[in-house]
Amino acid sequence: MKPLLYLILSVGFAAALTFAAPEFYLTMLVYIGLSAIVCFGLVLLTGICGLTSFGQAAFVGLGAYASAVATTELGVSPWIGLVLAIVLTGLSGLLIGFLTLQLSGHFLPLGTIAWSVSLYLVAGNLQSIGGHTGLTGIPPLSIGAHQISSAREFLPLVLISVAATAWSCRNILDSRTGRALRAINGRSIMAEAMAVDTFRYKMVVFIYAAVLAGFSGWLYAHFQRFINPTPFSLHMSIEYLFMIVIGGLSSVGGAIAGAAIVTLLHHWLGDLLPRLLGQSGQFETIVFCVITVLFLRYLPGGVWPMMARLVPRYGTGKSPPVLLEDDAVLPAPCAGVAREDGQLKPLLQVNSIRKEFGGLVAVNDVNFGVKGGQIVALIGPNGAGKSTMFNLITGVLNPTGGEVRLEDRRLDRLSSKEIAQLGIARTFQHVKLLDDRTVVENVAIGAHRFGRSGFIRSALRLDRADEAQLLARSANALKLTGLGELAGRLSGQLSLGQQRIVEIARALALGPRILLLDEPAAGLRHQEKEQLARLIRRLQESGMTILLVEHDMAFLMNLAEHIVVMEYGCKIAEGTPAEIQGNQRVLEAYLGVA
Ligand code: ADP
Ligand code: MG
Repeated sequence: MKPLLYLILSVGFAAALTFAAPEFYLTMLVYIGLSAIVCFGLVLLTGICGLTSFGQAAFVGLGAYASAVATTELGVSPWIGLVLAIVLTGLSGLLIGFLTLQLSGHFLPLGTIAWSVSLYLVAGNLQSIGGHTGLTGIPPLSIGAHQISSAREFLPLVLISVAATAWSCRNILDSRTGRALRAINGRSIMAEAMAVDTFRYKMVVFIYAAVLAGFSGWLYAHFQRFINPTPFSLHMSIEYLFMIVIGGLSSVGGAIAGAAIVTLLHHWLGDLLPRLLGQSGQFETIVFCVITVLFLRYLPGGVWPMMARLVPRYGTGKSPPVLLEDDAVLPAPCAGVAREDGQLKPLLQVNSIRKEFGGLVAVNDVNFGVKGGQIVALIGPNGAGKSTMFNLITGVLNPTGGEVRLEDRRLDRLSSKEIAQLGIARTFQHVKLLDDRTVVENVAIGAHRFGRSGFIRSALRLDRADEAQLLARSANALKLTGLGELAGRLSGQLSLGQQRIVEIARALALGPRILLLDEPAAGLRHQEKEQLARLIRRLQESGMTILLVEHDMAFLMNLAEHIVVMEYGCKIAEGTPAEIQGNQRVLEAYLGVA
């Protein structure tokens, strides 16, 4: 009922505005709407995914010019122009994304700056499309025989476009795709370890942001009916970034708020400052720079989180996930375990694996195996190479030599994502959770590979059945670890011990054949350690194979069947806990006892 009420109120408000407000305000609203559509793309790209683009105005320009040239030179209808605008911006997004997104760091910002500057220069210097003077005589949009030629008539179209694109972005944020995008932001090693194809998601979100910008450009061209290169410059791309920083980087509402604030301030300051200073110039840009720096420093979330408290909320939080039957607790049957004849089959085998970092040999030709259904521990002093070993097994690092096998399959040439898809799941020594997301959402990142809904299905909210299944799977993994009650809490609010367990639940949601736990007990209190040991044993009883790194020998004594000891990258011993405890070499190395 409530969403319907808001819908009616919003439509009523929009209608009242359209009929009653002076044309000038309507024009401002159109511009705010056009900017908001560009900002939605930036929220997904920059705010959520952490990829900064300085090229959004160039995409706006490309969309605007594509349709303007097609309609004025070729005489096609603006609706054909729309198709052209979308195809062209999509393709150029694809190309630029492909060239820059595989490389990390500054390549994307630099690539988009280059793109922005070159497109601006091309548009400014190509006399056939009007050069710096621009193109005039762009036809207005028309529906049937009716031409939409005033702001009063154009505004409803813009409002509908804003509502539709905002809806699609919100849907994406609240989906499997959204979780993947969030996981990419600063956590891409974790995302890949959870079988998320980070490059593909970056590409898709970059293209979508480009298409949204192109769409906004198309609206702009047919609203203004005149274009020149100025609104599509690098300068304007930066202004779009100002908008989302001021409004709020990570929400659709923030994009709208930022677009409104900057557009209105731009207009207002553009009038006021020249009068105050006695000369003209783009002084408002200086003000925006200062405001943006202040926001980044003192209010990094933007104004939206404060405004959001005033806006009635509906349908934001997820509906609580449905738990499966109690006996369906294990996310996936763990195959490959054969204990019938008392013999375990080898599952994971590491042969002469070696990793050098420059002159440092972090892992020095180490051999060991893990049999299906076993709990094996990897121990050794700090810096022995244990985490590096995990990174080699899970494809985060490429070995300098040697091989890793899962049964007959060689893993050492596969990517992290491919290894995860084969059923190797891991946790991290330094917990890698999304602190501002709920526990169950974090766990659902592990369930990613069981989802089928891609970007478009997510955007159109056709993913609900799929999503419910993923969340149920995640809730189950969580329940299995004993944290079912915490599903709806923000991960950042949990204790370190609980966060480590959430990491295990996330790994379980991946339906692993083998679970790699990197120091799961580090920083845990005694009681928490006991709970963890019980959990690990329960997992083993249900057929899971576990390889864990641990410092605490007491913790391992009754848990691990087999222990591999490393020191300075080399394996110095292996055997049962009792054998290891009595091994002189281990005592010297590991305990520092001569
Ligand atoms: P452990 O987990 O056993 O404490 P690590 O595997 O983290 O040890 O590290 C083993 C050695 O490799 C350390 O000397 C560490 O400094 C070095 N090392 C680990 N990762 C890297 C890296 N990415 N680049 C360079 N040196 C590294
Ligand atoms: Mg380590």
